[in-house]
Amino acid sequence: MKYLSTRTKGVSIEASEAILKGLNDDGGLFVPEMIPTLEVPFEELSKMSYQEIAYEVMKLYFTDFTEGELKDCINKAYDDKFDTPFIAPLAEACGAYYLELFHGATIAFKDMALSILPHLLTTSAKKNNVKNDIVILTATSGDTGKAALAGFSDVKGTKIIVFYPKNGVSPIQEKQMITQKGDNTYVVGIHGNFDDAQTGVKKMFNDQELQKIMNANNMQFSSANSINIGRLIPQVVYYVYSYVKLLGEEKISNGEKINVVVPTGNFGNILAAYYAKNMGVPIDKLICASNENKVLFDFFMTGKYDRNREFKLTSSPSMDILISSNLERLIYHIAGNDALKNKELMDSLNATGVYEITDEMKKNLTDFVGGYATEEDTAKEIHDLYEDTGYVIDTHTAVASSVLKKYILDNEDDKVTVIASTASPYKFTRSVMNAIDQKYDSMGDFELVDELSKLSNVEVPKAIEDIRTAPVLHDRICDKSEMKETVMSILGLE
Ligand SMILES: *Cc1c(COP(=O)(O)O)cnc(C)c1O
Repeated sequence: MKYLSTRTKGVSIEASEAILKGLNDDGGLFVPEMIPTLEVPFEELSKMSYQEIAYEVMKLYFTDFTEGELKDCINKAYDDKFDTPFIAPLAEACGAYYLELFHGATIAFKDMALSILPHLLTTSAKKNNVKNDIVILTATSGDTGKAALAGFSDVKGTKIIVFYPKNGVSPIQEKQMITQKGDNTYVVGIHGNFDDAQTGVKKMFNDQELQKIMNANNMQFSSANSINIGRLIPQVVYYVYSYVKLLGEEKISNGEKINVVVPTGNFGNILAAYYAKNMGVPIDKLICASNENKVLFDFFMTGKYDRNREFKLTSSPSMDILISSNLERLIYHIAGNDALKNKELMDSLNATGVYEITDEMKKNLTDFVGGYATEEDTAKEIHDLYEDTGYVIDTHTAVASSVLKKYILDNEDDKVTVIASTASPYKFTRSVMNAIDQKYDSMGDFELVDELSKLSNVEVPKAIEDIRTAPVLHDRICDKSEMKETVMSILGLE
């Protein structure tokens, strides 16, 4: 399996090279030359563990890894860092299945891919005889940062620098990042929003002069953002897993179609579901749920992507994004794997903040349904689900759950549905508890944690216990225009 660029014809590299590079030199993302078909029947997969299914999926994409290398990466990633042997359990509430993707070290779904990426990356470096230190540059809307820091902390031959919007993440998210241990970890708050952070990081990846300086100092950049194909592919696994688990538990019959709802920001998670569908998993609708930053909803309604709008800070900060990077991979695919057409649209996005797809491309989008939830809808969903079932969900999952309710009302679609539950409610305790009852508003962050535990009968996760008393180890702050200087200073390149 070779990897191609979404922006230039003729680029063709191995999986390990694509993982190392993160982004192609032309600014394009790497895509597999085709989406492979699952080889093992669902009946057989339904008897396998998460790790075994992970191997069956990833071996079709990472074909230049040996069986030993890939299994080693998988076993190091999906171990007792997760608090359940199922890795991604399904919880049923109000007739839907919540696929809980938050049982890893940092209690958000980013752990699903970021616990394996460091192993994929160091294996790729060995395979390609890379002697340079690898510097991971990451922009985060809150959850990627901590998951990447945890994954790369003290991994030999790597350094990791994380940029987050200083006023755009939850208090628990910030505390998780700025207490990160590890001699190779750096955390920087920027005066700007997530899109500023992501744009700044992309600029550094494309800065040839900076790369020359890095190389002269035996360093090179790579990315832990969801633009890295080494993040996207591990996310395909849990869509296969959830389908075959529903089958194994006889909630569906073999071949029965299900719907999937994904709370979406950068479009990585839902794109993984699209890949799973194209690998043969019987998924009917891919329901893309947005918060009030509903640029994707508008896109699915009109075929026009328009980022020129007010950026809103919401209670689901990991979805506060106006430039959904991974959408570029979908655009490339629906254009018939046409790099030139995609580049034309991305150039337009860069220049004007807008692009519009053709009618022909729109026809290839019928798998997708867009929906969005307001702040009020989101809070109401957390409240109502708790009142009805006792099950507590986080704000991001609530956006998806609310969108599903509206979708069912409008479409009378009674298919079995999996909702990607992307974060533990403990990560967004304040918003979650306020949604359940305003009386919690006056309490401190960790007091709320204890109240949530009482009310949900769920033990406080280790990730939260760990930061209660942890000392702050990072206090760097910079302007969005100073990101490059900050990186050079951290790496001693002045
Ligand atoms: C990152 C994140 C999302 C958005 O996922 P994308 O792959 O960027 O679309 C949703 N919810 C949570 C909790 C997240 O951390």
